[in-house]
Amino acid sequence: MSGCTLCPRRCGVDRSKRTGFCGMGVMPKVARAALHFWEEPCISGRNGSGTVFFSGCTLRCAYCQNHEISHLGQGKEITVQRLADIFKMLRDQGAHNINLVTATPFVPAVLDALSLFHPGIPIVWNSGGYETVDTLKMLQGAVDIYLPDLKHVSPRLSALCAQAPDYFDMASAAIQEMCRQTGPAVYDEAGMVRRGVIVRHLILPGCTADSCRVLDFIAEKLPPGTPVSLMRQYTPEPWCAIPGLDRRITDKEYARVLDHFQALGLQGYIQEKESADGAYTPAFDGTGV
Ligand code: SF4
Repeated sequence: MSGCTLCPRRCGVDRSKRTGFCGMGVMPKVARAALHFWEEPCISGRNGSGTVFFSGCTLRCAYCQNHEISHLGQGKEITVQRLADIFKMLRDQGAHNINLVTATPFVPAVLDALSLFHPGIPIVWNSGGYETVDTLKMLQGAVDIYLPDLKHVSPRLSALCAQAPDYFDMASAAIQEMCRQTGPAVYDEAGMVRRGVIVRHLILPGCTADSCRVLDFIAEKLPPGTPVSLMRQYTPEPWCAIPGLDRRITDKEYARVLDHFQALGLQGYIQEKESADGAYTPAFDGTGV
């Protein structure tokens, strides 16, 4: 494998010999493959989303709830054939879609697996938004639904949380490319999304001004009607040492961002407080791998 430039870190390392920032080798590494019911209703539906949680991450946010896989790299290395078999297994279990979570380091393997077996249901690319346009172009035609985060605008906040001061520059360009590829969101008669981009934003404590800047970008630069999923379930984790991120958001902080969301005329998904309190992280125990 030549030097890896799959994500904006552009480590340039030969991952068959050593790892870059994401900590991953060439073979896909997966921590869980199972039906998942805690995505947006148009993704999870009644049957669940066939979710493949890949290990490693190109961002490794300090506050990540999936710390075991994103930071510690827990999971099992599998072959491309096994990945294709997992797609079939999830389809046969009744999944509405195949939901690939933080698969950026494994783009070539994902494309090879889909050429071995296409499950005939939408393919969802679920990522932190830290992508290059070149890598996204490799996915054009293979991915039906993009589910990116847009986390922060401030370079200082992105540097502090994810060692990525260029996060917004990269993610904003990436999400515009995603919108270009898919066009407007398309839903079936049951309300399940079949194609499109849904942008997620998690409100961080003490960072409502930055959240409003994220929403401003969406309103000003993305196609009108792009669905936005506004999430309030931020949970302080013991491994996060960033000052100020040691608490949940307050009702007042949420109301401020929600008011801005509504004033901008954005559409999409707004998380109720009750569901935020029950925020769910699955067990990364190798289920289905
Ligand atoms: S995918 Fe991993 S090795 Fe490749 S550029 Fe990104 S962080 Fe570096």
